Amino acid sequence: MDSLLNPDRPPVFCPGCSHDRSVHTLDRALKEMGLKGSDVVIVSDIGCSGLFDTFFKTHAFHGLHGRALTYAAGIKLAQPHLKVIVTMGDGGLGIGGAHFLAACRRNLDISLLVLNNFNFGMTGGQFSCTTPEHASVASSFLNLLEKPFDVCNVAACAGAPFVARSSVYRKNLPELLAEAISFKGFAVVDLWGGCPARYMKKNPLSPKEIESAIEKLQPYQGVISTNIRREYSSHYREEAAKDTAGVDWQGIEKTFEPTVKERREVVFLGSAGQRVITGGGLLGRAAILAGMNVTQKNDYNITVMRGPSVTEVIVSPQAITYTEVGKPDVIVALSEEGVRKCWGLFQKMEKEGRVILAAGVEIPTTDAEVLEVNFKAGGIKKKERALAALSLLAQTGDPVTLEMLREAISQSFHGKRLEEARLVLEKAATIPV
Ligand code: SF4
Repeated sequence: MDSLLNPDRPPVFCPGCSHDRSVHTLDRALKEMGLKGSDVVIVSDIGCSGLFDTFFKTHAFHGLHGRALTYAAGIKLAQPHLKVIVTMGDGGLGIGGAHFLAACRRNLDISLLVLNNFNFGMTGGQFSCTTPEHASVASSFLNLLEKPFDVCNVAACAGAPFVARSSVYRKNLPELLAEAISFKGFAVVDLWGGCPARYMKKNPLSPKEIESAIEKLQPYQGVISTNIRREYSSHYREEAAKDTAGVDWQGIEKTFEPTVKERREVVFLGSAGQRVITGGGLLGRAAILAGMNVTQKNDYNITVMRGPSVTEVIVSPQAITYTEVGKPDVIVALSEEGVRKCWGLFQKMEKEGRVILAAGVEIPTTDAEVLEVNFKAGGIKKKERALAALSLLAQTGDPVTLEMLREAISQSFHGKRLEEARLVLEKAATIPV
C-alpha cells in the first residue's frame, strides 16, 4: 500500500521536532495496515499537533482547542466504518481534560495519539498538564505549583481499554500505533518526544533520557484487561434499536394538500406564559399534515413565566437547508418585550408581509400590512393569544388552513385542554380587528 502522506504539504515543523518523526511513523503504521485515505479520518487539535491532518491524504477535521475528542466521537457515531485517529498535544489534553475522561469512560472505537512534549510549543513554551515540576518553562514558576498529570494512569483509571506509553524514537512504534488503531475500542498512546524550539532550550532532553524517564514509570503496553468491554457505537446502535418506548415512530401522516408553493417564515414575538412555543409547534404540525417541511427555532429565558419568548417557524414545500429567518412573511407581535428582542426584523419585511399585532403593543415602522387585533375585547386570555393569532392567520389559508389547524390541535391536545383550544379557534373569528 502507498504512503498516505500529502505530497503537496510536507511536514513543516521546527528542525529536530519529534512531531516530524510521529508523522512518518503514523504513515508507516497506516501503510502496514493497508488503509486507504478514504478509510481514515484524522481529527487534529490546536497547536503544532493540530497540523497533522494537513500532512495526510485522508479525511480531516480540525476544530477548537481541547475539543478534538468530541468531534471524533460524533464522526465515529455517524460514520462507524472510518478509522478515527485523533492527534492532540499535552496542551490540548489538559484543556479538554473532561472530554478525555468521557472518551475513556465511553469506549468509542477511536485512537488518541497524545503528542506529549511537556509544554505548549506553538504559543511559546508555557507549562501544560504534563510539564514536570522541576522543568524551566516560559510561564515562570507556575509548573512548580501543580502536579503533572500521568496520561496513562488517568486513562487507565477512567476506563480506557487500551493504554500505551512510548518514546517517539522507539523502532517498534509503527507496530504499536497499528495495534492501537486496529484495537476495537478507545486506544490511548502517550507519545513522548521533544520540542527543541521551546522546551528543550531550557530542558535538554535526549531520546535516551526520555527512555529512562519512561522506564521509571508504571509500564503501559496496550490492552488493560480489566477495562475490556463492548465498544460504544455498536452497543449504542443495538440499544437504540430496542428503545422505542414513548416515541411516536409513526410520524405525522399527510392528510392535506399544501396551500403554499414557496417557503414561508413566521415569527411569534411574545412573553413567557403566552404559549408562544406551543403556537409555533401547532403551526408546524399543521404544515406537516400537508406534507410540508418545517423547522422551529425557539428563544426564551431560562426563567419560568418571565421574559420574552420568541419562536421562528419555517414552513416550506421544498427542503429547508438553513433554519435562519431572513425576511419574515408573518410576524405575530404579542408583547413589547418580545418585539424589542427582534426589533430589526420588522424592517426586513416586504409589503406582501403581514403583522398580526396585539392592540397596545408598539412596533417599529414596517412595509408590511399591519392587522391590529384587540384580543382583550375578544375575551382571549393572555395564555391563548398565540393560538388565537394562529387562528386569524389560518383564516387566510397561508401557510395553513383552519382545517389543518383543527387537526393539529386534535392530535396535540386531549380532554379539557382540547376543548379550550377549540373554543379559542372559534372565538378568534369574532375578535374585533
Ligand atoms: S514549537 Fe516545538 S512542537 Fe512546535 S513545531 Fe517547533 S519544535 Fe515542534
